[in-house]
Amino acid sequence: MIEKRIVDELIRIVGKDDVLTEDEDLASYSFDGTTNWVHKPDVVVFPTSPQEISEILKLANKRRIPVTPRGAGTNVSGGSIPIKGGIVLCTTKMNRILKIDKENLMATVEPGVVLMDFNVALAKEGLFFPPDPQSFLAATMGGVIAENGGGPACVKYGVTKQYVLGLEVVLPIGEIIEVGGVTMKNVTGYDLTMLFTGSEGTLGVISKANLVVKPLPQATKTLMVVFDDVAVAGENVYHVLSSGVVPSKIELLDNWVINSIERLQPMGLPKDAGALLLFEVDGVPEAVEKEAKQVEEVCRKYGARDVRVAKDKAEADRYWTARRAGFAAVFSAAPTVLAEDVTVPRNKIPDLIRKVDEVCKARGIEYSVIGHAGDGNLHPSLLTDMRDKESFQKAQEAMGMIIEYAVELGGVLSGEHGIGLEKKKFLKKAMDPIAIELMKGIKKIVDPNNILNPGKIWEEAEEA
Ligand SMILES: Cc1cc2nc3c(=O)[nH]c(=O)nc-3n(C[C@H](O)[C@H](O)[C@H](O)COP(=O)(O)OP(=O)(O)OC[C@H]3O[C@@H](n4cnc5c(N)ncnc54)[C@H](O)[C@@H]3O)c2cc1C
Repeated sequence: MIEKRIVDELIRIVGKDDVLTEDEDLASYSFDGTTNWVHKPDVVVFPTSPQEISEILKLANKRRIPVTPRGAGTNVSGGSIPIKGGIVLCTTKMNRILKIDKENLMATVEPGVVLMDFNVALAKEGLFFPPDPQSFLAATMGGVIAENGGGPACVKYGVTKQYVLGLEVVLPIGEIIEVGGVTMKNVTGYDLTMLFTGSEGTLGVISKANLVVKPLPQATKTLMVVFDDVAVAGENVYHVLSSGVVPSKIELLDNWVINSIERLQPMGLPKDAGALLLFEVDGVPEAVEKEAKQVEEVCRKYGARDVRVAKDKAEADRYWTARRAGFAAVFSAAPTVLAEDVTVPRNKIPDLIRKVDEVCKARGIEYSVIGHAGDGNLHPSLLTDMRDKESFQKAQEAMGMIIEYAVELGGVLSGEHGIGLEKKKFLKKAMDPIAIELMKGIKKIVDPNNILNPGKIWEEAEEA
């Protein structure tokens, strides 16, 4: 329980309306996009300026109170769970787009801007922000930057870190600093902008961001390619990319996902397919036509059963809506879902898919595979129920084996969801121990009292 005088201090800083202490309110901030982590904060605050964030952090640092930054709470790694209680610092009221600078193809936003709102405003200027986490209807820019989010379009355009030019960050000790800037090139000292990008809310609270934006492509074309075998679909990712065409999107949906989407909302997907690859190509119209043809030819050559080229925007939108619904379908399919986020070199996708099948089948675990195949980033998701000890243990064991295999293939633990609480016990298997110590050292310098999002990324001494 937090002391009343601390709550009074918080009210003095942000105002009464921006402090929540009622049990029902706290419950709403006790979970995120994961299905197996819950912990209530003692208080939730909604600052509206970097100065308010600074005052909150100074108070928390002095009193050694844990503070967990939070945007929309859609992350799927436990990142915004206030696992040690204390203060949830929610940035959703800092939601102004401060500048759209078309001449320099950049924009400045506050952290609570929702990605969809950002893209709607950019579209009016003929621009867009390419990294497209499929939670874009809710995810905030602060959360996207803190997780270094990705999405379908990252195969051509790159992930969030490639779009962050500069940040204003409030350090755990309360200092407000600016790192990076607004220029496309910048090698002035260590790249602290990249350090805060993807730091999962453990090093500072992002209070402003300067971001690269791009002109909207003149034309796009979507293709749905149908395969009998999910591993063959995986092979086609590198066949297409090595043929010399770089689609803007390459997404994979397996038979389980296809059927779940069709159950929730029929979209006309082929229910008997082993897997689908959804491609989008974009650019000038002539190139788009040529590239779409090339994707079709390559996939037909390497085992596609059918290729449907979307006739119009409505058909293309239907396929992409289906893709977006896919991850939600997975998460609503069982009381507990262990959603993987491993990323492997693209020519290892078929090996990973086969391994997932082998490991899960051997243990009788229902699973699905969906993901940003163009980046080698797959989300094998294991359906279980943490109330059933045996089932949960089996799923955890399988998840461990899948992760170990992905690392063996030269892959990594997380492509976009971060480590948070969900994957911290696997970190030691996936990262050089000296690199882990280096990260802990950085954390200690930036956050000497370990108040900002404590308990995340690596296991603490008593857990190890
Ligand atoms: C259906 C669904 C689909 C998804 N698809 C994708 C996808 O395609 N790609 C992808 O990358 N992710 C995806 N995600 C995961 C999630 O949406 C992203 O991680 C997103 O970037 C989180 O944004 P948020 O505003 O919800 O952040 P939150 O979940 O609130 O927070 C995420 C992390 O960022 C920290 N944080 C939040 N705001 C700040 C701030 N201002 N300063 C410092 N730290 C901060 C938090 O402490 C936490 O560690 C998906 C999730 C769901 C539920």
